[in-house]
Amino acid sequence: MPEVVIVGGSLVGLSAALFLRTHGVDVLLAERHPGTSIHPRTPGYNARTMELFRAAGVEEAVRAAGPWKLNGTGLLWAETLTGPNHRWLAPPNTAAQPEDLSPCTDVVMSQDVLEPVLRAHAEALGAELRFGTELESFGNHADGVTATLLDRETGTRTTVEAAYLIAADGAGSGIRAALGIGRSGIGVLEHVVSIMVRADIRKELGDRSFAIAQVNNPGFTGMARVVGDKLALHVTYDPGEGVAQFTPDRCVELARAAAGLPDLDVEPLEVLPWANTAAVADAFSAGRVFLAGDAAHVMPPSGAYGANTGIQDAANLAWKLARVLRGQAGPGLLATYDAERRPVARLTMEQALATGRDWFGADLPAEVHAIELLDTAIVKFGYRYGAGEPYEDPRRPGCTPGSRAPHVWVEPGVSTVDLWAGGLVLLTGSEGTAWLEAATRLPLTARRVPDTKAFGITGSGAVLIRPDGFIAWRAETADARPGATLAAACEALLAGA
Ligand SMILES: Cc1cc2nc3c(=O)[nH]c(=O)nc-3n(C[C@H](O)[C@H](O)[C@H](O)COP(=O)(O)OP(=O)(O)OC[C@H]3O[C@@H](n4cnc5c(N)ncnc54)[C@H](O)[C@@H]3O)c2cc1C
Repeated sequence: MPEVVIVGGSLVGLSAALFLRTHGVDVLLAERHPGTSIHPRTPGYNARTMELFRAAGVEEAVRAAGPWKLNGTGLLWAETLTGPNHRWLAPPNTAAQPEDLSPCTDVVMSQDVLEPVLRAHAEALGAELRFGTELESFGNHADGVTATLLDRETGTRTTVEAAYLIAADGAGSGIRAALGIGRSGIGVLEHVVSIMVRADIRKELGDRSFAIAQVNNPGFTGMARVVGDKLALHVTYDPGEGVAQFTPDRCVELARAAAGLPDLDVEPLEVLPWANTAAVADAFSAGRVFLAGDAAHVMPPSGAYGANTGIQDAANLAWKLARVLRGQAGPGLLATYDAERRPVARLTMEQALATGRDWFGADLPAEVHAIELLDTAIVKFGYRYGAGEPYEDPRRPGCTPGSRAPHVWVEPGVSTVDLWAGGLVLLTGSEGTAWLEAATRLPLTARRVPDTKAFGITGSGAVLIRPDGFIAWRAETADARPGATLAAACEALLAGA
């Protein structure tokens, strides 16, 4: 019997399976599609997400999964993809973080390349991943969950029992609907079709390299990406007229107009409708069911925050479920998932809206005009949990409980990110012997770091970091009763206080 059932085997479900397995939790994942994504979809994974992949041991494999199928970084405004009339909305590589913020950098790669890496690692760690399997119904009981799964190939139904269920079933989450959880936010902004065609324009592009382009000309208005020998085109449409209007011939015309190449060879591949939406679920959990990823929040693609926020949900939830399943923590810890992640989702959704407003001049409702656009480093690294300010500038971290623990090289090639990967970690300085002794009696690892100033503590102070890299507790200096103080800090953390 699995301990956790995950519904949805896209980015967030696969990440949840991976993170849970790194914490030793038995998982069963059900995904209705027969395999991972065949569509390139999400191109941008930020350095904070890469830190979580690094902690889970897959950063190198993700990087090695290249050659990345996308054509560079940067946001281009262009009359046509290949024509002369163009300017940068955001120049290439601006998304890369200054090295001192993180041991990782942003990665541009397409989802159909990333998902198999996450799948392989989750499976290698022992996750049971059932593709071609759909959740038909579920029960959310006081002492556990039941999930009725349909094998779409054989038609066989099985009912599985587990302690918890994670709904990573996407924006149209059937689980969220069944739980009666509503959503708040502006809602649907526009209806979009993503059109994939095989059309190789790499020769005509030459050295022009970008992650995505806003293209405006009489024959095409929308976003376009170059994905190897293919083009991904995103065009808004009136749902009243339906997607049937995007016939193969129309897709060919649109691709030629976007490329600015009237004789281009184009093979239409796929038309995928979706709604550009800004909405956050009114609760991220109900009983033993937890919403993660697009099931919990949807935001415009501007800023490339959607999948990143979902993967970070999964990291927040995984260690908490593990501690509760092992009897080390109470249900209060699980309640912090909603308390911590819902405000972050709302903040990030607002930033995605403000990014669309400022970068693309998107036509957005009046309330969006009041949102202050934050530096992307703040959105990626600076959000905070719990009491105090909702965010901080990660270049000047406060290092108080609720903040992301800053990255510091503790020895050549070893970052603090590598220390919290294994679980709760206590860091202290040259005069922290009493803390180190106290730590031996608790379920955590402890070590000295050369530079405690980076954590806002003296050499005799200590800082406790959670397995998702957030600061749980801090003592700026030595304590008269380090054993009792540290035990109380751990107890409060695991109780969700
Ligand atoms: C054009 C575009 C560009 C984007 N660019 C970025 C970007 O650069 N960076 C970024 O961070 N985000 C980006 N996003 C957002 C990102 O794509 C989503 O946030 C992300 O894919 C959500 O992942 P998910 O796993 O939560 O949901 P989904 O990817 O929607 O996956 C849900 C899965 O659940 C499965 N499922 C649903 N119901 C069931 C069921 N009953 N049983 C079994 N399986 C079920 C579905 O088949 C699906 O595979 C972009 C989005 C768009 C549309």
